Amino acid sequence: MDRPPIRPIQQLSPSLVNRIAAGEVIERPASVVKELVENALDAGADEIIVEVEDGGRELIRVIDNGGGIPPSDLRLAFASHATSKLLTDEDLFRIGTKGFRGEALASIGSVSHSRIVSRVAQARGPAPQDSAYEIQNRGGEIGDVQACAGNTGTIVEVRNLFFNVPARRKFLKGTQTEFGYISETVTKLALPHPAVAFKLSHNGRGVLDLPKTDETDRLLQAWPNEFHEMRLPIDARDAEVRLHGIIGLPELARPTPRYQQFYLNGRPIRDKFVQHAFREAYRGLTEPGRYPAGVLLIEMSPGDVDVNVHPTKAEVRFRDSGRVHGLVMAAVREVLLGNDLTPLAAPRGEDEQSSFRLDMREKLAAFFKQMPAEVAEPTPASPALPLGEDRSERVASVEATPASRLQNRDAGVAPTAELAKTSVSGASLAGPAIQLHNSYLVAQSDDGMIIIDQHALHERIMFEE
Ligand code: ADP
Ligand code: MG
Repeated sequence: MDRPPIRPIQQLSPSLVNRIAAGEVIERPASVVKELVENALDAGADEIIVEVEDGGRELIRVIDNGGGIPPSDLRLAFASHATSKLLTDEDLFRIGTKGFRGEALASIGSVSHSRIVSRVAQARGPAPQDSAYEIQNRGGEIGDVQACAGNTGTIVEVRNLFFNVPARRKFLKGTQTEFGYISETVTKLALPHPAVAFKLSHNGRGVLDLPKTDETDRLLQAWPNEFHEMRLPIDARDAEVRLHGIIGLPELARPTPRYQQFYLNGRPIRDKFVQHAFREAYRGLTEPGRYPAGVLLIEMSPGDVDVNVHPTKAEVRFRDSGRVHGLVMAAVREVLLGNDLTPLAAPRGEDEQSSFRLDMREKLAAFFKQMPAEVAEPTPASPALPLGEDRSERVASVEATPASRLQNRDAGVAPTAELAKTSVSGASLAGPAIQLHNSYLVAQSDDGMIIIDQHALHERIMFEE
């Protein structure tokens, strides 16, 4: 049998280690932009400018007005496994910054010609700093720190990306495609940070200008203009988790998750629990297989989530994913049920709104008027509202409509859900109905009461029409 020759084990050189790490984290120019913008955010900047040439192949420059890097730390900024964001071992279990691996600049520097120019804010440094300092990194060869001109904050320039990794460079797409990824990356990072202004330019031309604004206004950047009116605000919390942002009316659901963005503590995440919970909340309201639109910001104590799962940190592991799932599903559904979800062809003005409501009310009234005839002689097979009995055979026509199916799955409103199952046509109503939460009609029946999901009922009327 032929055995391969035994070769000695060798420690990899730092530059090789960095290039291997770069292979994981730096896939394309947009990955560089992500890392540099995250660093600017971690540095507390409230203005971040991204300048790109030739889709990022030629140049990526990120300018921030954050805290800066002291000259004594500049070399370390390019060193691998060097970070100012973890002080103790325990810090790894409560990460509040975007970065913590201390690898990005080392990786980027090993596959490009990079330069950092930085000047710390006067108030922060040990002594007032009268100058900026710069350092260069040419594919892993790190130069000396030198004084130069520059404003407070940091500029990181990355030129000739992948100059020494021909395979990667070849695999890059066209200029516009690569720039498209960059633009998407900047928008994605900007969404949860309305208090930070972002600018992006390509070959000297301004492409994105996001001034400081409020949360909703910034989040709407994720969607095309024609979606903007078709949103519902969401803000819910339990003892440990807060969920806020905007969700789209069911009609904004699309075949791809393009208009869905989820953030955990300001970090874009891909999470199957959150995605599933969000979709479930719309079940019955959208066609199966579609992705509802929503930008959801989830906030929780950094100790309750592990962000150290994946090198690009796009995936996280919740300590209690069931809780997050439950909150997302319940909160989104509550917003949906509390609102009129009738599709809008165009945003409605006040007048149209109220005439629409009137129209709906008339239809509901007409529906109720025809009921007594039906319920005058309840058949023995369908007695009115047998609470507590098995009424599975009478699970109503109403249940077949989307909104009530949605409701029946909500354990949180179990009694209502139970009642909503009851056939409207099988119940004998006595007296007027009252409306709760703009969603439910409550009416007396001969031997109890009946709660009707108004949206489900409305859907049914539309369906029958
Ligand atoms: P990480 O972000 O994981 O710490 P990086 O390689 O991205 O690792 O950055 C290394 C260090 O360089 C950071 O910990 C930080 O101290 C410093 N640094 C990088 N970019 C900036 C910036 N824009 N402003 C201030 N400090 C920065
Ligand atoms: Mg970083």
